Amino acid sequence: MEFGLSEEQVAVRDTVRTFVRREVMPLEAECLRNERAGRPGVSAEQLRQLQDKARSAGFWGINTPEEYGGMALGPVMTAIVLRELGRSFVPFNFGGSADNILYRGTEEQKQRYLLPLLAGERKSCFAITEPGAGSDARAITTSARKEGDSYVINGEKTFITRGTDADFVMVFAVTDKEKKGADGGVTCFLVDRDMGWKSEPIDTMGEWGPAALVFDDVVVPEENILGELGYGFRLAMEWINAGRFTLPARAVGSCERLLQMGSDYANTRSTFGQLLSQRQAIQWMIADSAVEIEAMTLLTLKAAWLLEQGTDNRHAASMAKLYAGVKANEIVDRVLQIHGGMGYTRELPIERWYRELRLLRIYEGTDEIQRQSIARNILKGNVKIGS
Ligand SMILES: Cc1cc2nc3c(=O)[nH]c(=O)nc-3n(C[C@H](O)[C@H](O)[C@H](O)COP(=O)(O)OP(=O)(O)OC[C@H]3O[C@@H](n4cnc5c(N)ncnc54)[C@H](O)[C@@H]3O)c2cc1C
Repeated sequence: MEFGLSEEQVAVRDTVRTFVRREVMPLEAECLRNERAGRPGVSAEQLRQLQDKARSAGFWGINTPEEYGGMALGPVMTAIVLRELGRSFVPFNFGGSADNILYRGTEEQKQRYLLPLLAGERKSCFAITEPGAGSDARAITTSARKEGDSYVINGEKTFITRGTDADFVMVFAVTDKEKKGADGGVTCFLVDRDMGWKSEPIDTMGEWGPAALVFDDVVVPEENILGELGYGFRLAMEWINAGRFTLPARAVGSCERLLQMGSDYANTRSTFGQLLSQRQAIQWMIADSAVEIEAMTLLTLKAAWLLEQGTDNRHAASMAKLYAGVKANEIVDRVLQIHGGMGYTRELPIERWYRELRLLRIYEGTDEIQRQSIARNILKGNVKIGS
C-alpha cells in the first residue's frame, strides 16, 4: 500500500501550486470587487490570458486525450491538480477540455462541437434538470418529436450551468413516451443556440449563476443526436460519473486554504490576554477540520484511483462527494467562527466560500441522493461492508 504521491505527481502538484500562487491568487481582490459590483469575477479576456499562460507552462487539456493535443493526465492527477486550483476562489480552469461524452460523437459532430470546445472557440452546457425533475431525472418531460429528418424539441430546463453564455447545449429529451425513464426512452441532442432555444439567468446565492433554457418548437436535424437514439440516460450518467470526484477534489483545496486562514488568525488574535490558538475551543475546531480534510482527501483520491483502474467508482465517488460536501460546509463555518465578526464581513473572502461550498451539497446529486445510493448498495449487497 502506498499513500505518498509519486515524484511525477509531486512535480505536477508543485507546478500548479506555484502557478496558482503567482498568477491566480493575485486576482482575488479584483475578483471580489467585480463580483460585488455584479460583474463576472474575471472577464472572458482575463480568463483567456490566464489559460494561455498556463498553456505555455504546459497545462492545457488536462483530461484531453493525447491525440487531441491534451495531457491525458488521468483521474488521480486530475484530482491533484483540481485540489490546487481549489485553493483560490477565482473561477479558473485550465483550457483545452471538453465534456467527456462529446468524444462519443460522429466525426462531423467532433468537428462542429468537440474541436471548437477544445480550442476555446465555443462553450457548451449540459441540460437534464427541469422544473419538475431534478433528483428524479427520469421524470423529465422535455420532448423531441420526429418530423421527417428532424426532431422538434419542446420543454424547459432549469439550473443549467453556463446556460447564459453557452453556444450549444447537450439537452436530454423524451423520444419515446412509452419507455420514458427507462433505456430506450430519452435521447441526447446537440443543439446550437441559433437553432432557437432561449436562456434566462437565474439569480442564486453563488457567483456563477445558472440559467433556465426554453425550447419552443426548436427544430434539430436528426444527425445532431449524440450517441444512440433512446440511450441518452447512459450518456448523462457517463457525464455525471466522470466528473463526480472532481467536485470534492476542488473542495479539499478550498478547505486547506480556509484552515490555513483560520490557523493564521488564531495565531495572531488575542482575547482576554491570550492568543485564540491557546484556547481549547479553537484548537478543537482546527483539529477536527484537519482530520476531516485528510479524510476528504483520501476518499477523493480513492474514487479517482478506482476510475483510473477502469473499475466502477460510483459508490466511492458518492461517498467522497457526500462527505466532502457536508464537511467542507462545517469547515468553512468553523473558520468563519474563528474570525468572529471579521469572518462575517465582505472584507474577507470567507463568506464567498461559505456561499460557494453550499452548492456542493446540492448539484450533481444532493446529499440525500448520495446517501440513498450508498445505502442501497449496502442493503442490496452490491458493496460488501468492510471490502
Ligand atoms: C448552481 C446550480 C448549478 C446546476 N447545474 C446544472 C447543470 O449544469 N445541468 C443540470 O442538468 N442540472 C444542474 N443543476 C441542477 C441540480 O443537479 C439539481 O438542483 C439537483 O439534482 C437537485 O434537484 P432539485 O433542485 O430539483 O431538487 P429536488 O429533487 O426537488 O429535491 C429537493 C430536496 O428533496 C430531497 N430529495 C429528493 N428526493 C429525495 C428522496 N428520494 N429521498 C430523500 N430526499 C429526497 C433532495 O435531496 C433535496 O434536498 C444545478 C443546480 C444548481 C443549484
